[in-house]
Amino acid sequence: MDSIKDLDKKYVLPTYARADVEFVGGENAKLYDVNGKRYIDFASGIAVCSVGHANKRVNDAICNQLSKLTHTSNLYYIAPQAKAAQKIVEASGYDMKCFFGNSGAEANEGAIKIARKFGEKEGEIKRYKVITLQHSFHGRTITTVKATGQAYMHNYFGPYPDGFVYADDINHVESLVDDHTCAVMIELVQGEGGVQPLDREAVQKLAKFLKSKDVLLIIDEVQTGVYRTGKFLASNYYDIEPDIVTLAKGLGGGVPIGVVMTSHKDIFSAGDHGSTFGGNFLSTTAACEVMDILDEMYDDGRLQSSIDYFDSSLEKFYSAHGDIFTSKVGIGMMCGLRVKDGDTLAKIILKAREEGVIVLRAGRDTLRLLPALTITKEEIDEGFEALNRAIGSL
Ligand SMILES: *Cc1c(COP(=O)(O)O)cnc(C)c1O
Repeated sequence: MDSIKDLDKKYVLPTYARADVEFVGGENAKLYDVNGKRYIDFASGIAVCSVGHANKRVNDAICNQLSKLTHTSNLYYIAPQAKAAQKIVEASGYDMKCFFGNSGAEANEGAIKIARKFGEKEGEIKRYKVITLQHSFHGRTITTVKATGQAYMHNYFGPYPDGFVYADDINHVESLVDDHTCAVMIELVQGEGGVQPLDREAVQKLAKFLKSKDVLLIIDEVQTGVYRTGKFLASNYYDIEPDIVTLAKGLGGGVPIGVVMTSHKDIFSAGDHGSTFGGNFLSTTAACEVMDILDEMYDDGRLQSSIDYFDSSLEKFYSAHGDIFTSKVGIGMMCGLRVKDGDTLAKIILKAREEGVIVLRAGRDTLRLLPALTITKEEIDEGFEALNRAIGSL
């Protein structure tokens, strides 16, 4: 461990405040560190390992594909890319087409490009403004960090692209729409912002208003997508019809992938957008298998029963510690507990790891839980036992 720590310190740019642990193995919602200590993983690599660690079906599918081809570029047809697109579009229930990239930020960049092209109509003034929400998170590229409504992230890196404005909350979006607005981009459950679900009626009302104004609605489902909330998309849960949806985290089961999908199927022509790696054999084979596993779990009710069991365990844990937690937030397997103060939260995360359960922070004061969607009852029980011990040792 020490030598890896030394190598990391010497050769890797220090953009992450790393926890003092090195994992070397995993199985579903269990992780093992370099000393052989076992943990229950309630974080799943920030909602990425949606079907657990070392998932045999995904690994077999990938290995089988890699023994044939990993990459050819998008100059040629890619069978798993076409199949992944079909699975994603069919699961969404929307009449859309996909573009594949490699990350959430890239998917959102694609969404903004679609919106900006949509705003460019002959004979009309150019519409370019994109409205996002305060406390949102849309990525770390120059454009998506500017789209992110968190001023502290806007240091150092300017000048930024013009045309991003921030609404204080969902109810203030309408008043910011003007002749230059081409799109509104929102997360339905703000992930990094504190696992905060938006009000369903307010979202539906906004969606209707934007349709009437011919302004596009972009839903950033990079964290909420791929069954995280119990439905394939949080947009399905909110019963809206977005113009553009972005996906990434949970889609590849750990393999980097991002997707932007849109109902404006003719918006791009050849050459308008592209990616060298996007949608290659590796990432889309992983996505196909992840989709198959989760589609099956959704169809036969296993996903909902996992969610119900996790939720009732969380509810018990929350009620038992009313002196520490102030509210329970989130939808499906995207859960949070608001902690009375940030210092206590930092202590909980550290103690939890000592006791053998991995949890996350979101925003200033939210304990965030994003377990694998395949987590078992035994793993859930073991995780909450460890969390209870952590609270007991505060
Ligand atoms: C994680 C996240 C992103 C950024 O994804 P990257 O893959 O890190 O670029 C964008 N939007 C939301 C809602 C996210 O949770």
